[in-house]
Amino acid sequence: MLSEGKEELIKNFKLRNIEVEFFERLDQASDRIKKLIGLECTVGVGNSKTLKEMKISEKLRERGNKVYDKTLGKTREEVRELKRQSLLTDWYITGSNAISIEGHIVNIDHSGNRVAAMIYGPDKVIVVVGENKICNTLEDAKNRARNIAAPLNAKRAGYNPPCVELSRCVDCKSSERVCFNDVTIEGQYKKDRMRLFIVSEDIGF
Ligand code: SF4
Repeated sequence: MLSEGKEELIKNFKLRNIEVEFFERLDQASDRIKKLIGLECTVGVGNSKTLKEMKISEKLRERGNKVYDKTLGKTREEVRELKRQSLLTDWYITGSNAISIEGHIVNIDHSGNRVAAMIYGPDKVIVVVGENKICNTLEDAKNRARNIAAPLNAKRAGYNPPCVELSRCVDCKSSERVCFNDVTIEGQYKKDRMRLFIVSEDIGF
C-alpha cells in the first residue's frame, strides 16, 4: 500500500477511535495478539479464513486461554453455546470483509454472532485483515463485501445463493442468503476498545 494511503487510513480510523497496526506477515500479527492478551483472559474468535490460517484459536488454547470459537464445536448445541459465550469475553478476535481508507469496517454475516460481538459485549476487539480488503471508499467496501466476499464465503460454507454462480450480488431473498446481516462499523464510542491489524498479504475473502 502506498504510504500516503496508509497515513490517510491511520488518521481516519484514529478519528473514529480505532487504532491501526500494520504487519508484514500473519505470524507477526499473531505474536502481537499473544502479547496483548493476558493468559487469564477469555477470548472469543469469529469464523474467518484469515484467523484459520493464523491458527489463533489453537495457539491461545495451547498456552492456557479459555477460547470460544464456534468452529471447534462438535455438535449443534456446542456450536450454539460457543457462539453465545463468545459474546461475553474479555477479548474478541475477528476478520472482516472489507475496510475503507475513509475508516469503515464492512461486514456481512449469516447468523450475526460475529457482528454482534464486534458491536457490543467483549471488552476489547481485534479485527485482522489482509491488505486485499482495503478499499478506497465506503461504497467500494460495500461492493467488495457483497460481490467478492459473499459468493466466496457462501461457497466455503456450503450455501448456494445466486451470487455463487453469478459472482455478483442480486440482492436475493434466498433462504441460502449469507448476508442476512450487513453491518458497517463506523467507529467506537470507547477509545482503545477496537484495534485493526492490517497484514501486507492477500488473505481471506
Ligand atoms: S443478497 Fe444474496 S446474492 Fe447478494 S450477496 Fe447476499 S447472498 Fe449473495
